[in-house]
Amino acid sequence: MLMHSVEDAASTVASRMTKLATENVPLRDAHGRFAAVDVIAPRSVPSFDNSAMDGYAVRWADLPGTFQVVATVGAGQLMTTPVPPRAVVRILTGAPMPAELDTVVIQEHAEIEGDHVKLPEEKQGENTRKVGEDIARGEVAVTAGSRLGPGELGLLAALGVSVVPCVRAPRVAIIATGDELVDVSTPLGPSQIVDSSAHMLPALIRELGGIPTYVGIAKDDPLTMAALIASALDHDCVITTGGVSVGDRDHVRAALASAGVELELWKVAMKPGKPFSFGMNGRVPLFGLPGNPVSAFVAFELFVRPALLTMQGATKTQRPRAPVSLVRGYRKSVGRTHYIRARVERHGEHLVAHPHPKQGSAILSSLVGTNALVELPAEASEISPNSHMQAILLEAI
Ligand code: AMP
Ligand code: MG
Repeated sequence: MLMHSVEDAASTVASRMTKLATENVPLRDAHGRFAAVDVIAPRSVPSFDNSAMDGYAVRWADLPGTFQVVATVGAGQLMTTPVPPRAVVRILTGAPMPAELDTVVIQEHAEIEGDHVKLPEEKQGENTRKVGEDIARGEVAVTAGSRLGPGELGLLAALGVSVVPCVRAPRVAIIATGDELVDVSTPLGPSQIVDSSAHMLPALIRELGGIPTYVGIAKDDPLTMAALIASALDHDCVITTGGVSVGDRDHVRAALASAGVELELWKVAMKPGKPFSFGMNGRVPLFGLPGNPVSAFVAFELFVRPALLTMQGATKTQRPRAPVSLVRGYRKSVGRTHYIRARVERHGEHLVAHPHPKQGSAILSSLVGTNALVELPAEASEISPNSHMQAILLEAI
């Protein structure tokens, strides 16, 4: 199988992804989920005209003048008796406007004279909030494919939407491979390392709304590996790490084949992350991430993240990109796209990228403090300092 470009690999993965089913999610559990449909406002907010300020509710046509104050109405109260002609009502913020009154004069502009109050001119309707001025019944409150964050949740609650149709969160199985791997709390033998991806990958998955399940570590033997992979096929997606380079212990390819997975990608022209593989078992995508943790991180960013977002029906599946000025130069061979882990800072209008000094694919410390992957194009060989390069922004800068 030939080596695919990053673009080809990304479009192959994208072309295989389908949206998961819709389920009704109670609002309190909906944070971070993706709306499956346009959510239409079932009522108007506000649902009644009310005062935006503490002051005096008045008939605008009567202003200015001195008026008798016949009642006080606070938030949560309702005036049920009619307001006589040329009378006003003391009103507090959030209180329903008495039906006959249309304008509020704020208390700072009122002069109290016993049980009367002197009010100046005011604009008609001032200091009131009208039915539906936030959102009117029938308007789209949240569009399909948007992620439910604090603002969306607040608006849906105000609208009385207590259950939201969301796309099912993908359940993602993670299988590590390697005889050398142990759990973080196991004392290390002389040739062992911690399965660090067991902690990095679930965090990446949770950040985009997926539900990770860590299946465990498969020894480097194709039978156990195939069995573990087969046992994970009841998930929406399976991720393996390691065992995908060309060493004799690299059995993942064989294991995937015996688990009924047809591989569509085997290697991608990128650094880090070349030994990336991808295939489908029916509707379940399987991603074979490289063993080296930084390679796994980069391949996850480029291929798995958009896939899991597409499965959730997300409108936005790509990270923002921006040109950055790369403070140091690089010399690279033509053919693979490089992804430099960097800290991008804003200097006025410009984004400046400071690469981590150690760019090895096993250097986990290069991921700490990194907020961007700077892309060095496949065809580039000589990149001089302060060149402008595209960066994938991992956070808002
Ligand atoms: P492999 O693709 O299995 O040859 O792995 C490449 C390198 O990544 C080796 O040095 C492995 O020890 C290391 N590695 C593989 N899987 C993991 C993992 N889950 N966590 C940390 N390092 C790993
Ligand atoms: Mg291995």
